[in-house]
Formats: sequence, structure tokens, C-alpha cells
Amino acid sequence: MLNSIYTQLKHKLLHLLEQFIPAQCLICQLASDNKLICKDCKSSLLQQRTCCQHCGLSLPVSQHFCGDCIQQQHYFTKLHALASYTTPYSSLIKELKYGKKLIIAEALGELLSLSILENLNAQQIKSIEYLIAVPLHHKKLRQRGFNQAALIAEAVAKQLSIPVLKDAIQRHKETLPQENLSINKRKKNLHGAFHIHDNVHLQNKHIAIIDDVVTTGATINSLCQSLLKAGVASITVFCISRTDTA
Ligand SMILES: [Zn+2]
Ligand SMILES: [Zn+2]
Repeated sequence: MLNSIYTQLKHKLLHLLEQFIPAQCLICQLASDNKLICKDCKSSLLQQRTCCQHCGLSLPVSQHFCGDCIQQQHYFTKLHALASYTTPYSSLIKELKYGKKLIIAEALGELLSLSILENLNAQQIKSIEYLIAVPLHHKKLRQRGFNQAALIAEAVAKQLSIPVLKDAIQRHKETLPQENLSINKRKKNLHGAFHIHDNVHLQNKHIAIIDDVVTTGATINSLCQSLLKAGVASITVFCISRTDTA
């Protein structure tokens, strides 16, 4: 308990200190006018990508939907990813998660917000009542000291003025990394992984889930299923990166 309070305090302090470091672009390291990412890097990072209109998987220009979305229904209305899981995003996310450079969450959250504003219409954005970060299992949270998705959600909330609903969901099963498992094992791995605590705030609400990386979509789909069972009206998913292979 004390250990986890200490870790959390340490991260908060580091985060605070980072704010006073002279402004330098996180990508090109050049001076950046008090901004986390300079103008040039921002415009090159925000370039449009061609992807599945439903699940955000990278696709050639000629295709609107991926094979997966044509064949089966997802539980979310739309997934919007800022980018594919390629550089510099893959390294930024690793630096955030494992290098504990928390300021990156703020920069990524800001970029994601700009990309949401460019890709969704005002009505779609206005209809979202809560943002919910994909929770980490409490053991992992204790180990890492922070949930990167929650930090990104806070940054998006600030930019889009949508409140974050905290502690509504608990991840009460430590799931194995999905990528090395067969489809059946993936489903079993995620079965009952999430527990919804706060049905009251979720009833008939339109919500958006925030995650850093979406790989197969299986985790998101499992979470969406639990949320819909709890009475949520619709779910949009926002993430920083969508990996290119389903
Ligand atoms: Zn730059
Ligand atoms: Zn798709």
C-alpha cells in the first residue's frame, strides 16, 4: 500500500518537474515555442491515413471496410486511431510506458484530439457524454505506477471538454498478451476480464473508450460487450495506434 502511494507520488512529482523543462519538441528535439510538439512535426504527424471506416485497420485507398468488418459485427460504433503502430508512435508509446516519460501522454492526447476533430463531425463528438480509459489490472497498475490510457484520456478530456468517468470498470483478470494466442484462446483469455462497477452513470450513455494501442480489437470488444450489458447506449473507440495486422 505505502509502496504504491510512494510510486504514485514519485510519478506525479516527475510529471510536475517535466513541465518546467525548457520547451523542446518531443519528436525532433528542436526548440518548440512552449509546445510539446513543434508545428512542423505536428503537421507531418497528423497526416490522413487510409483505413477501415469502422475499425481503423490500415487499408489500400480503394477499400472502405476490412474483411473482418464485412464478416462480423463489432460491439463499438466506430474506432478512430490517430495512426498506425509505426514510428514515431511505437517508440513514443514505449517511452511513455516503459521509460515513464509521462509528458508524452499529454502530447499524444493532444494529437489524438486534433485528429478526432478532423475526422468526426461536431455532432458525433458532442454526443459523447463520457470518456473511459481501458483499465489496467491492479497488479500491473501497481508495477507501472500509472495507466497510460488514463493519462491520454485526461489530455483528450481537456482538449474536447468531455468528462472522464473514472473507476467505473475494473479489470479483474490478468490477461495474457493477446498476440501469441489462437482465436479461441484469445476469447477465453478475455472472458469475464472486465467488471462494471458503476451502472448508474453508464445507463443509456454514449461513451468513448480510450486506449493507447489496439491490436486485435479483442480486448476492446470484450470491454464493449460488458459495457453494453451494463446499459450503455453506444460506444466509440479512440486510440493512438492501431496495429496493421488483425
Ligand atoms: Zn518537432
Ligand atoms: Zn475493419
